[in-house]
Amino acid sequence: MGSFERTPEEYATELLGYFEMPRVGDVNSFAKMIGLKVREVPSQTFDGALIRVPNKLKGVVAVRETIRESGKKAFTVAHEIGHFVLPGHGTADCSCTAKDINSWQAHVSRQKEVSANRFASELLLPARSLYEIVSHRKATLALAQEIANEHQTSLTATAIKCVDVTDEACALVWSINNHIEWTHKNDSFWPFIPKTRLDQNSCAGRLFLDHSQPAAEGEVEADVWLCLDNNSDKPTLWEDSLFLPYYNAVLSILTIEF
Ligand SMILES: [Zn+2]
Repeated sequence: MGSFERTPEEYATELLGYFEMPRVGDVNSFAKMIGLKVREVPSQTFDGALIRVPNKLKGVVAVRETIRESGKKAFTVAHEIGHFVLPGHGTADCSCTAKDINSWQAHVSRQKEVSANRFASELLLPARSLYEIVSHRKATLALAQEIANEHQTSLTATAIKCVDVTDEACALVWSINNHIEWTHKNDSFWPFIPKTRLDQNSCAGRLFLDHSQPAAEGEVEADVWLCLDNNSDKPTLWEDSLFLPYYNAVLSILTIEF
């Protein structure tokens, strides 16, 4: 426990190292290598589930067959592999909803889901290989989508990781119905307090008003997004936002313009 506890990313790196693979490639074949069969099922309730064979290091990953994007399906399988291999995830079967597989904020009640997501993200898209791509490109949602398609991972997971590895000062924001649900920033984006409701001057706020455009980007004043005190410098942000109808959510990348 404590500072010696390994992170979910470190477990993913170790597992890849054990098989001498730079990344998993086909996640279903990888699941098979570690004793898990992947089955597509007509689920109405969960996106992914792990059914363990009692007393054996074997099991079945069930994935909802109607998940449309192949990247999201692969991410769901990798998430269930996370529950299978991460310590402290218990020995009981588990089923995970779309919300679990898109949870990134470490609420106590969802800690295992966040760990499984962080593990899945590193398994499919190791930070080291992502840095090689992102270090000489601007961190945008279009780039995240391109990388997600190539590496069979989800858009949100990829965007979070782009924010983590880029040299730019970036933050990612997830909003539902004009309410900011969670944010994820890198160290270069200074300490900040995001607002709780979207400002109508943000591109994200406009996307909720008018769904005819799926994406919007542009320069915005920092106080459109952040609670700043009067004395602080007010830089300009570049906002890149995308409406995701499946979640009725908007995903935004904010980058400080220097
Ligand atoms: Zn889960």
